[in-house]
Amino acid sequence: MTDHPFSSQSLLAQGGSHLEHEYGVIIPPVYTSTTYLRDSDNQYRSGRVYSRADNPTYRPAEILLAELENAVDARLFASGMAAATTVFQALKPGDSVIAPKVMYWALRKWLQTFGVDSGLNVRFVDTTNLDELRLAIDEKAPTLIWLETPGNPLWTVTDIAAVADLAKDCGALLAVDSTVATPLLTKPLNLGADIVMHSATKYLNGHSDVISGVLAAREDNAFWQRLVAIRAQSGAVPGPTDAAQLLRGMRTLFLRVRESCQSALYIAGQLEQHPHVIEVLYPGLKSFSGHDVAQKQMSSGFGGMLSIRLAGGEKAAIAVAAKTQLWCRATSLGGVESLIEHRASIEGSDSPVPLDLLRLSVGIEKADDLLADLQQSIDSAHA
Ligand SMILES: *Cc1c(COP(=O)(O)O)cnc(C)c1O
Repeated sequence: MTDHPFSSQSLLAQGGSHLEHEYGVIIPPVYTSTTYLRDSDNQYRSGRVYSRADNPTYRPAEILLAELENAVDARLFASGMAAATTVFQALKPGDSVIAPKVMYWALRKWLQTFGVDSGLNVRFVDTTNLDELRLAIDEKAPTLIWLETPGNPLWTVTDIAAVADLAKDCGALLAVDSTVATPLLTKPLNLGADIVMHSATKYLNGHSDVISGVLAAREDNAFWQRLVAIRAQSGAVPGPTDAAQLLRGMRTLFLRVRESCQSALYIAGQLEQHPHVIEVLYPGLKSFSGHDVAQKQMSSGFGGMLSIRLAGGEKAAIAVAAKTQLWCRATSLGGVESLIEHRASIEGSDSPVPLDLLRLSVGIEKADDLLADLQQSIDSAHA
């Protein structure tokens, strides 16, 4: 897709502006029409029929995302979950899927219920352990391997290039949920993945006011066309104003991600010293088990997400979240405002998340303010 010398930073800053638009507008228009005029000879030469299938408002964001991911094409979806489940809906009953034990909880739940009900054979493995993965591949002969790296909310880092080699050897497709890495820190398609998925609700939009998702593909093949057809036929599309708002959010992605990465690294390092913090989970810390792979695979930062485990268990963790004044107690991640969450309360009993864990989404407030607020809330919860 890329036929120009511009960096991701420049492409993002001018998201959609460098395309040609009517009247020479710099900001691409929003097309709210649900239907399109048929030619007088009964043809649809515009290629557009009805907006359940597609809407031209999506194209600038899709072209930009394809460029960022070095993909042949990208498609917006109604949500990250709509994008992810489209990939699994494209499989056939009896197909085997390997997915990570540490992954976005709602997708794990979907796989365990609707995925299994639709005939998929799903095995959850520790994808950071290549020996365990090899055994599962030998046993399951998977059609698809799904990765999430860093994996929510323990931020486990999986070696995408190594898994791509295994996937190639066994003829499996490789899809990666790269929401937390964003297209700026990791490029899964360059590392051998076939499909990359993002919840655009998170960093891509960045302002906690749009629900959307994206899939992008390394090759335009029958599987990609199947994904495109599922989106069109099931109507898993965002509204046009959401798509335009997403593009506006993406124009500042570079700045937001840079700030979040710097602050997260700083806060993680400082909290590691705190007497009431048992463990800090962050790919940027040398003490973290996935640090070496993260260093190889995450180019310019380790992301804005970290988790901390607190002395005093679940009660202390919930008490710390209750005491924060700057951090917002809320689910989700990747927005300009920092969020804190007791994750186990959300995920339920079969989750791998420890009860003493708080998940932190580092926004773009001043890092020292964020740190001080955490320190006072930890101290007062443990007083
Ligand atoms: C939020 C999220 C999703 C789901 O995206 P929605 O837009 O909320 O449907 C999937 N994967 C990860 C890693 C997420 O953080």
